Amino acid sequence: MKAHQLKLYNTLSRQKEDFAPINPPFVGMYVCGPTVYGDAHLGHGRPAITFDTVNRYLTHLGYRVRYVRNITDVGHLTGDADEGEDKIAKKAKLEQLEPMEVAQQYTDTYHRDMALLNTWKPSIEPRATGHIPEQIALVEAILNEGLAYVVNGSVYFDVLAYNKRYTYGKLSGRVLDDLMTGSRDLDGQGEKRNAVDFALWKNASSEHLMKWPSPWGLGFPGWHLECTAMSSKYLGTQFDIHGGGMDLLFPHHECEIAQGNACNHRDPAKYWMHNNMITINGQKMGKSLGNFITLQELFTGKHPLLEQAYSPMTIRYFILTAQYRSTLDFSNDALRAAQKGYKKIINGLRIVRSMDYTPNSEIALDGEQVQQVEASITAAYRAMDDDFNTAMAIGHLFNLLKKINSIFTGQLQSAS
Ligand SMILES: [Zn+2]
Repeated sequence: MKAHQLKLYNTLSRQKEDFAPINPPFVGMYVCGPTVYGDAHLGHGRPAITFDTVNRYLTHLGYRVRYVRNITDVGHLTGDADEGEDKIAKKAKLEQLEPMEVAQQYTDTYHRDMALLNTWKPSIEPRATGHIPEQIALVEAILNEGLAYVVNGSVYFDVLAYNKRYTYGKLSGRVLDDLMTGSRDLDGQGEKRNAVDFALWKNASSEHLMKWPSPWGLGFPGWHLECTAMSSKYLGTQFDIHGGGMDLLFPHHECEIAQGNACNHRDPAKYWMHNNMITINGQKMGKSLGNFITLQELFTGKHPLLEQAYSPMTIRYFILTAQYRSTLDFSNDALRAAQKGYKKIINGLRIVRSMDYTPNSEIALDGEQVQQVEASITAAYRAMDDDFNTAMAIGHLFNLLKKINSIFTGQLQSAS
């Protein structure tokens, strides 16, 4: 591990920092998982592959990683500002299924697609509905701190009271005063003292499908709460890395920090990592734009925007050809280029493996050649140590293949 000083970009400090886990060689990493009410799409592929790479690389360096990624099967509402229907319950009504059937079905298809993308399973994959008592306990703790209030069977986090003791907005860089002004005109806030407050527990109406008894009556947890409950249960009240897509930075992760401080008087995570978004032909992906592509559609080529099918490993390779913090644009041209690049690397690897090199064999390297090969390998590692720059690392792997190719021209030809 000594040879590697891994640096990673911490969203919280807005700079690259030396990675120093709280309790080495152990690393605790929590990543926000999917809300299981539909097929996994490109927007699920990128964080899964990004944090799979983080997990694999840390493990490769000798760290013992506990990777927790949750399944959201309740509490994620269709609207912003704690309004609207539960996304899973809405789908259940449409398809005349039990909400748990919807959650099971899309958890299964998510697992299938993540396996195709060759991602390692998380060490623990907790579900929100399996952690209701833990979430109720957190709400009670926050109420005891005087940082939440009860209205008509719902409990809201009091952001203004919190901000007197801590700083709300430090992850996203948003200023509370601006948030207050920006949300003043919003109506439908009803029960909240302030529009910036968020639900910890929501009272369930009689037609609501998923609800549990609580000290405040029948209800269900707010979406942000589950991640605080599950991360602290399995990784402790302070752990190393919290990851997710940039779309979760605000309000979700900001609220997680507030909840963590309110209950445990400390920031939940030391490093916050966010992968950037994917665009399609330069446009943001969205159902209304007709450019919403599921992973299965990519694998089968069955989408009007796709000119062919692309293998899961082509998709994985394509995602890794960009550093995770840069935007990535999907197009048929870019995917075809990725398909070629991936084949080249895999063929190169196959040939190198078939060479059966031993120090005494006739394929002997002179000192300079050894140096050249080692320089490429070192450069690839250095790229990975620099905030997991897979784009650069892949570039160095191509250089390495080129060098090996020129050194072993004769042998490669006979081996291929
Ligand atoms: Zn989360």
